[in-house]
Amino acid sequence: MAFQAPKGTYDILPGTPFLAARDGLLEPARLAGYDYMEPPVFEDTELFARGVGASTDVVTKEMYTFSDRGGRSLTLRPEGTAGVVRAVLEHGLHHGQLPVKLRYAGPMFRAERPQKGRFRQFQQSGIEAIGLTDPALDAEVVALAWQGYQRLGLREVRLLLTSLGDPACRPAYREELTAFLTGLDLDEATHERARLNPLRVLDDKRPEVQAQLVAAPLIIDRLCADCKAHHDAVVAALDILDVPFEPAPRLVRGLDYYMRTTFEFVHDGLGAQSALGGGGRYDGLSESIGGPPLPGIGWALGIERTLLALEAEGVEVVGETGLAVFVVPLGTAAKAWAVGFVGQLRTRGVATDLAYGERGLKGAMKAADRSGARWAVVVGDRDLDADVAQLKDLTNGEQTAVPLSDLLEQLA
Ligand code: AMP
Repeated sequence: MAFQAPKGTYDILPGTPFLAARDGLLEPARLAGYDYMEPPVFEDTELFARGVGASTDVVTKEMYTFSDRGGRSLTLRPEGTAGVVRAVLEHGLHHGQLPVKLRYAGPMFRAERPQKGRFRQFQQSGIEAIGLTDPALDAEVVALAWQGYQRLGLREVRLLLTSLGDPACRPAYREELTAFLTGLDLDEATHERARLNPLRVLDDKRPEVQAQLVAAPLIIDRLCADCKAHHDAVVAALDILDVPFEPAPRLVRGLDYYMRTTFEFVHDGLGAQSALGGGGRYDGLSESIGGPPLPGIGWALGIERTLLALEAEGVEVVGETGLAVFVVPLGTAAKAWAVGFVGQLRTRGVATDLAYGERGLKGAMKAADRSGARWAVVVGDRDLDADVAQLKDLTNGEQTAVPLSDLLEQLA
């Protein structure tokens, strides 16, 4: 039997606007000074265990961990932030101008149960702004994702925003929430989850659980003065930036490192996997991986779900600009000329292809039509002798004879 792609993986096939989505989402960030970088696809397992959080589903259940030939424990990156912050520390980028603004894109790996919009190898585009705790920077980061979606043409993305507090106010809140949860009628697994991370229970989707959580204390009502001021400033800046959001006091995210500003982008056209992307502030991350205190904020947006959202909204994204010219040589001398001419056009930046293989005129013209090119250049050996080529506009079939000496200029 022929091979198939492993479970939970898929092929990015020609014709999908994959690059347009992946790079388009990052374009506003590029224009805001976020430089491109990419950490490796695998890192020390310990980096993710400490950076993402030992109690998270990602670390406890979903990592692709393996020993290399030297017996080191490595893990395929389940997310980008830990690797980016590791790289910033390793190369001392934080000793330069702050904030360090970075953008990245690439595959992430999580051993999840595959379903629509959920894969084991999936793609994210992300940014990080590292080194400052300025609420205006939080607002910029959030706005850049919002603008990325708008730029792609998505109109039904909703932004959920909250603050998760910080080490000054979260511990007391956590205790209060734990006490509240202990009194509830929950199954043992949920109580266990509450012991590991009580905030996670707030996100439980089951109606019977949600019904009991109506009166649960919320961190947004328990913020310390600093966190409250920070959050108010973020909200004010988002207002200036014209980015609409919905307060989401029960929002928690799957990675442990978030504090203060935390957000998620959702889309209602996606079914169960409605989260398009998300992020937040992670001021404790650097220290948890052995670095100095170094605040940061960022996001990661899922590309597969962005493509699903585009489909759901019926937005046509122009994929790669295809071929402009398709050259059809008829005869041996014409073929030799065509090989050279195609090279000249490509050097001039004109996307060009050639009818390879021994095809008659009919077959070659069919190939020209299928290529999607705007122009066909048809040259027979007799044309060459007369120093002309037939230039055919493939959109309307009109054909004119053009002197070879003019052809390159005309097409370029
Ligand atoms: P996270 O890194 O968990 O904050 O996820 C950020 C975004 O990445 C999500 O909102 C999804 O769009 C996407 N994502 C996360 N996990 C998966 C997955 N297993 N398959 C496809 N997309 C994913």
